[in-house]
Amino acid sequence: MTDLDPDEFRRLGHAVVDWIAGYRAGLGDLPVRPEVEPGWVRAQLPAALPEEPGGLEALLGEVDRVVVPASTHWQHPGFFGYFPANASLHSLLGDMLSGGLGVQGMLWSTSPAATEVEQVLLDGFADALGLDPAFTFAGGGGGSIQDSASSAALVALLAALHRGSPDWRESGVDGTERVYVTAETHSSLAKAVRVAGLGAKALRVVDPAPGSLAMSPTALAAAMKADIAAGLRPVLVCPTVGTTGTGAIDPVREVATVAREHGTWVHVDAAWAGVAAVCPEFRWVVDGTELVDSFCTDAHKWLLTAFDASLLWVRDADALPGALSITPEYLRNAASESGAVVDYRDWQVPLGRRFRALKLWAVVQGLGLRGLREHVRGHVALAADLTEWVREDPAFELAAPPSLALVCLRVVTGRGADADDSATRTVLERVNASGTALLTHTVVDGRYVIRVAIGSVATGPEHVGALWAQLRSAAEDVEGGNRCA
Ligand SMILES: *Cc1c(COP(=O)(O)O)cnc(C)c1O
Repeated sequence: MTDLDPDEFRRLGHAVVDWIAGYRAGLGDLPVRPEVEPGWVRAQLPAALPEEPGGLEALLGEVDRVVVPASTHWQHPGFFGYFPANASLHSLLGDMLSGGLGVQGMLWSTSPAATEVEQVLLDGFADALGLDPAFTFAGGGGGSIQDSASSAALVALLAALHRGSPDWRESGVDGTERVYVTAETHSSLAKAVRVAGLGAKALRVVDPAPGSLAMSPTALAAAMKADIAAGLRPVLVCPTVGTTGTGAIDPVREVATVAREHGTWVHVDAAWAGVAAVCPEFRWVVDGTELVDSFCTDAHKWLLTAFDASLLWVRDADALPGALSITPEYLRNAASESGAVVDYRDWQVPLGRRFRALKLWAVVQGLGLRGLREHVRGHVALAADLTEWVREDPAFELAAPPSLALVCLRVVTGRGADADDSATRTVLERVNASGTALLTHTVVDGRYVIRVAIGSVATGPEHVGALWAQLRSAAEDVEGGNRCA
């Protein structure tokens, strides 16, 4: 037999689970970010693949020797960079089941459970997040688990192109298509217009409302009107709920109202923030989504589910298959032809598809919606504490309105607002060099800004407290240095 004997798998599988458990238990003691030079990993490993088997123990040895020291530990309690990529142990259990089954869920008929469990979970989450029932299968729409919010935006754009022009599938694009975003919109939209063949010229960057980072509905209305007058065709408007830079929130209701006047598809990108709607007090993040065509939020960022699990709902269950379905003879089957089933291959670009719903199911099963709410609430409360500390400390200022569990801050020096950004940069570099926390930055109005994204599975009050102490002490050192200079 080529494969492992199931009993041997049982033994080795336990060893792998033990390894993961040990890794997670000791994670807080590792530096968050590796200290390796480019090429170090490659230099550690033999160039040729082994001719003879080496066994799992040897592999785990290499993971300890090479992989761990060269990894950024995204599950570390001191990880405050980018957005979190929660890979809860609950979700790993579901992921293991999915790999164990090893099914392909491209068609209903290739594994009915892979499709229908996903349908049940997405309908359930639509309800748990307070989405319009029109986004459920019962309501004529439906949800799917995409590999990423980037893919979700791409397929939403393809559905929008199809709806906007019945011969798009035949003739492709004609160069008049326009897509409306803001300067804060995630780069995946800029990528999607290129992938879809529209070119960067299709991207219309709408101005923010004065004094804010959020899309101005007035500016959107003017841009759409001017484009239509010039013979161009608005195909998609993409408001963001929780931008990647600062967590800014576009006014979905007003934006959708403008877009609908022209029949333009509205896709809401709530990749990071959308899951907060699981808490009734944060339901406002889905306000206005009853007016939009598609809505996306990542379970793989803040909602405890190991990458990849991006949840995408569409109001019209036929929209994605209409744009994407192509059926070669070898995929024909009675179930698909009956029209009674969903074939998720028609909701995405690739054909093949993992049984991703199992890891999401394992998370809800393990924690209940109550546990998910506590997780989100806990991080928002920690961000509120940090916000208070920043407000009260003359050495810091908020660089953008705090948004859920994201706090953007800058250093204020004795000489004023850190005019050349150098103090803010240095503070970030010092914190990151310590190895106990990882921060990333953005630029707001041309100014360098530290982002503190609270949300790692393991992050608790003690870690945010320790980060604040580090930020303060770094700021004091920088200020001391300035005085001496
Ligand atoms: C992270 C992020 C994305 C991209 O998410 P992926 O799932 O990694 O593709 C898109 N939009 C926003 C607002 C994000 O924060």
